[in-house]
Amino acid sequence: MIEESFEARGKRRKLIEELRSKGISDERVLEAMNRVPRHIFMDDAFLKHAYQDKAFPISAGQTISQPYTVAVQTILLNVGKRDRVLEIGTGSGYQAAILAELGVKVYTIERQRELHRKAQAMLSSMGYRIHCFLGDGYEGQPQYGPYDGIIITAATAEVPEKLLKQLRIGGRLVVPRGERDSQVMTLYTRTGEDDWEITTHGYFVFVPMLKGIANGNNR
Ligand code: SAH
Repeated sequence: MIEESFEARGKRRKLIEELRSKGISDERVLEAMNRVPRHIFMDDAFLKHAYQDKAFPISAGQTISQPYTVAVQTILLNVGKRDRVLEIGTGSGYQAAILAELGVKVYTIERQRELHRKAQAMLSSMGYRIHCFLGDGYEGQPQYGPYDGIIITAATAEVPEKLLKQLRIGGRLVVPRGERDSQVMTLYTRTGEDDWEITTHGYFVFVPMLKGIANGNNR
């Protein structure tokens, strides 16, 4: 694991208290978030920004999600040790690391080559065994499914049926659903071959989920 300063640990503990004061009460998730050095996933490792409860730009016009949002999505996934989880939108790799800290087997897909490479290298240098793929999340990763959980960390108006079908029965998919300016956090629980139960969990703002692998013109 990467060495880090006393200062970073202190700031992170404060962030965890802030999340608690905002209503996050799942101790397992809070502990996992307290173990992952978020600053390492940010360009220049800005300590000043890393432990504020805010989204922050990473490369390729993308963002690392706000810690509060990471907590909400992780709690809704409700994963157990050794569950298989597919993430759409690796980004910095931070959310994937939180899931790995919960004992989950993580598969994660990113459409931006640069982000995919960076996150893959970072996660493995930190000792996480996470399967990182360059690809289009709209296709999912059927060869490793069915999954106990699927987490989409980019906004989409339409939840791809292909992904809903990669859930095992009883599995959960969490997605910020909606157009550009605001999305509703939506939980799909697969209750049968062709049945999903749907619940909603407040408004959030994410970067959009885009089709295909990025080639420089379609960021
Ligand atoms: N989970 C990330 C936050 C990611 S921001 C973190 O913890 O840092 C959303 C990411 O989704 C961006 O990196 C974006 O490039 C990616 N993305 C958007 N559409 C995608 C798609 N169809 N397939 C895979 N990744 C996608």
